[in-house]
Amino acid sequence: MAPTSLAAEAAAILGRFGVDERRFAAGTLPVHSPITGEAIAAVAETPAGEVPAAIARAQAAFLAWRRVPAPRRGELVRLLGEELRAGKEALGRLVTLEVGKVVSEGLGEVQEMIDICDFAVGLSRQLGGLVLPSERPDHKLTEQWHPAGVVGIISAFNFPVAVWSWNAALALVCGDPVVWKPSEKTPLTALAVDALFRRAAATFGADAPEGLATLLIGGRDVGEALVDDPRVPVVSATGSTRMGRAVGERLARRFAKAILELGGNNASIVTPSADLDLTLRAVAFAAMGTAGQRCTTLRRLIVHESVYDALVPKLASVYRAISVGSPVAGDALVGPLIDRAAFDGMATALGAARAAGGTVHGGERVDVNGASAFYARPALVEMPTQSGPVLEETFAPILYVLRYRDLDEAIALQNGVPQGLSSSIFGNDLREVERFLSAQGSDCGIANVNMGPSGAEIGGAFGGEKETGGGRESGSDAWKGYMRRQTNAINYGRSLPLAQGVRFDIA
Ligand code: NAD
Repeated sequence: MAPTSLAAEAAAILGRFGVDERRFAAGTLPVHSPITGEAIAAVAETPAGEVPAAIARAQAAFLAWRRVPAPRRGELVRLLGEELRAGKEALGRLVTLEVGKVVSEGLGEVQEMIDICDFAVGLSRQLGGLVLPSERPDHKLTEQWHPAGVVGIISAFNFPVAVWSWNAALALVCGDPVVWKPSEKTPLTALAVDALFRRAAATFGADAPEGLATLLIGGRDVGEALVDDPRVPVVSATGSTRMGRAVGERLARRFAKAILELGGNNASIVTPSADLDLTLRAVAFAAMGTAGQRCTTLRRLIVHESVYDALVPKLASVYRAISVGSPVAGDALVGPLIDRAAFDGMATALGAARAAGGTVHGGERVDVNGASAFYARPALVEMPTQSGPVLEETFAPILYVLRYRDLDEAIALQNGVPQGLSSSIFGNDLREVERFLSAQGSDCGIANVNMGPSGAEIGGAFGGEKETGGGRESGSDAWKGYMRRQTNAINYGRSLPLAQGVRFDIA
C-alpha cells in the first residue's frame, strides 16, 4: 500500500534503508517538510557532551584506516557509490520531502554523490607527490601526502547530502575518518546516508573500523564541540558567512585546517554579443532553480544597455509564467522555500530594494499548501544602482538586474560585493570573454561562459573567494585539503653537503 502522508512516506524510505524507527519517531528535534509545513519526524539528538567520545572512536578508527592501502580504501567508496545507485530514487525522494527540491533536483543531488564516489575511486590510485631536483649531489627531494586525521563536516540544509559526499568520498580515500554534523533542518536524509554507508562498510569487511563515519545530530552546540576538538585537524564547514566567520575564528585559534564553503552573491554579465535565447534559458534555471536556494544561485544580472530592452521584458514574462508548486504534485519548476524565516527574509529584501528605488516584478507569496508552507513567486528586481540588499545574499529567488555601458564597469559591478563564489558571462566576443576570465576579470572561485553560475560538475574544484571563505572541495586537487604534506630530503651519498653552501666542519 502506498504511504498516505509525507511522514509515512519518509518513514517508509528510512525503514527501507534500515534506519531504526527510534532514531526518527520520538526524538527531540522536529523535522518539518517545507512542502506542507507539517512535522514529518522527531529525530533523536546527540547531546553535545557525547561528542568527545564519538571523536575518540573516530580517532581510534584513524589509527587503523591510515594503514589500509589507499586503493583498498577506494573500494569502500566504490561500494558506497553502489549503495547510492541502488538507493537513488528513494534517497532523491527523501531530499524532496525534507528540503522541498523538485524531483529532478532531488535525484540530481544523489547523482552528484555517485559522481564524486566514482571520482574518488580513481583518485585512490593517484594520491601522488612530487620528486623535485635537489641542489645537493647524491640527494633526492620528494614530497608525499599522508592522511590528515579525523575530518569534521558541517553541512547546510540546501544540499543536505551532496556536501557530505564531496567531503567524505575524498577524506575516506585519503585515509581520514569523517564526523558529520548536518543541518538541524535536514537530519532525515543524513540518517539515510549514514545507513547506506553502514551497508557499504559491512560489505567491505573487517578492515573498515568502527568509527570510520560518524553522524552527530544537533544544532550549533554540537557543531561547536566538533570545531573545538583538538583531535579534529580538518573541518569542512558549509553554510552562511556568519557561521563561517565563527567557525573559522575558532579553528584558527587551535591552528586547525578550515575548508570554508560559505555564502555567494553570484552575477552574470550579458554582453552585446550574447545569444539572448540561450541567455534567457540559462538565467531562468540559474536564478529560479532550487527556488533560489543554492549557494551558486544567480542573484545579480548585469546587462549591457544595448540588449537590456531585448532581454529584460522577456525575462519578466518568464518570471510571471514560471510554475510554482508542490514538488510532489504536478510538474512545477519552483518548489517551496525552506521555512517562514526564508520567506520573511525575501520580503524584507524586496522592501529594501523598493526603498532603494528598485522596480519589483513578482515576489509575492503563493498559496500552495496552506498557511504553514512558504511558496513564493520568484522576484525580478530592476535596480538603479548596486546598493542595499543587492550587496547581500538573501537565500531566496530574487534576481537584481543592473544596466552597464562598458565591460570594465560590468566587471567592477560583478566584483563589487563582499562574496566571491561564482560568476558567468554571456557573449561571443572572444576579447570580452577572455578579459572576463583573465586576472583583470571575475574575482570568483568559479567563472563560467555562456551558462549561469550554478550547477557545477564534480570534476572541478568547488569554492569561492572573499567572504565565501576560500575553501575548495570536490574535484581537481581539492583532495590535498584532506591530507598533510611531508617534504623528504634524502642523502644517498657519503658526504654531508649543507644547503645554501653553509659550512659546519667539526674537527
Ligand atoms: P547556516 O549557516 O545557518 O548553517 C549551516 C550549518 O552550520 C548548520 O549545520 C548549522 O547547525 C551549523 N552552524 C551554525 N552556526 C555554527 C557555529 N557557530 N558553529 C558550528 N556550527 C554552526 O546555513 P544554512 O541556512 O543551512 O545554509 C544556507 C547557507 O549556506 C547560504 O549562505 C549558502 O550560500 C551556504 N552554502 C554554501 C555552499 C558553498 O559550497 N559555498 C553550499 C551550500 C550552502
